Amino acid sequence: MTYELNQKVKELVPYEPETGKYAVRLEANESFLPIHKDIKKDMAALIRKIAFNRYPDPKATECCKAFADYYGINPALVTAGNGSDELIGLILSGFFSRGEKLLIAEPDFSMYRFYAQAAELQVVSYQKTEDFRIDPQAFIELAQKENCRGLIFSNPCNPTSQGLKKGALRMILKALPDTLIILDEAYMDFWNQSILTEVEEYNNLIILRTCSKAMGGAAIRLGFAVCRQELTAAVQALKSPYNVDSLTQAAGLALLRRQDILKDALADILAGRGFLAGALTKLEQEWQATPLAFSLVPESKTNFLVLRFRDKSKHQEIADYLKRKKILIRCFPVFLRITVGSPEENQALLAALRKMAGLKKYQKGSKERKA
Ligand SMILES: *Cc1c(COP(=O)(O)O)cnc(C)c1O
Repeated sequence: MTYELNQKVKELVPYEPETGKYAVRLEANESFLPIHKDIKKDMAALIRKIAFNRYPDPKATECCKAFADYYGINPALVTAGNGSDELIGLILSGFFSRGEKLLIAEPDFSMYRFYAQAAELQVVSYQKTEDFRIDPQAFIELAQKENCRGLIFSNPCNPTSQGLKKGALRMILKALPDTLIILDEAYMDFWNQSILTEVEEYNNLIILRTCSKAMGGAAIRLGFAVCRQELTAAVQALKSPYNVDSLTQAAGLALLRRQDILKDALADILAGRGFLAGALTKLEQEWQATPLAFSLVPESKTNFLVLRFRDKSKHQEIADYLKRKKILIRCFPVFLRITVGSPEENQALLAALRKMAGLKKYQKGSKERKA
């Protein structure tokens, strides 16, 4: 006899991010801005004061307070996690029992399915509309029909860049009072439809946030779950006691305290998005009669843009071409996702795309042939 992995683990497909060296990285929705030097100075000072022989504060009290201050909410409703990723895994394994149904709206963040599988949940899949919308009524009906114990989705959504407004969210929350609703607001800093300040009005709502996107803190692994007192007690009971280490707590505190700097950074990212969206709209018009015809999904509510090529085989071809030019973007079967970069990175992307279109086989009217 020999030890055999169980079926669940055998079937798990690990998430393997790109690790190679690339000059321009627009594939992971990180902020293109390095942490501000004043914040770095504060981080260094706080890290120097850490008692490294002691376990960290299990509640990450100061971090949670700074987070709550930033968003104007009650710190008692906040739990810190080792990235919001940890919290997704924790909630899906802790709040659900094996075999229970979890509703996921496709396409959405791939880790939901991953953690659902690890927790042996039954995934019920809702297919978004052609223009990437969730139809709230259809979504509610599917949850009811399938008797889902919970549902999880990102708002605004990664990877579609689209989102549901507050009115629709409230409607879903009220229509499904006995369903746990996990609302992942990882990108909500880029949009104004957060229901964070309403969290106590709902018995069935957990909101997730992260320092990894708009705040530019992906390296420190810090995320938050926000929910009413009773659910917060459950999240805290489920988590491992020292899930957020002292280095992360120090760095997170230095980051979250500087509301002024964070707001400036957000404005820079939004300006970058405006520029890139404008430039890609121009390309969209120029290329519409060529084999590279595409459409830009309008009005991104995030820090990335989504392009859909008429010829679906182009998605991989373009991603591969850019990769050879040391520019990384994210390729999905039916669209490309491009994170807003620095002005230089955005220019490099646009130059590479134009160069690709300039290759002979893409010239207007010419037949497909080797360039
Ligand atoms: C990036 C991302 C996260 C992960 O955030 P971390 O806090 O870095 O773990 C969660 N949800 C969505 C939708 C994301 O895109």
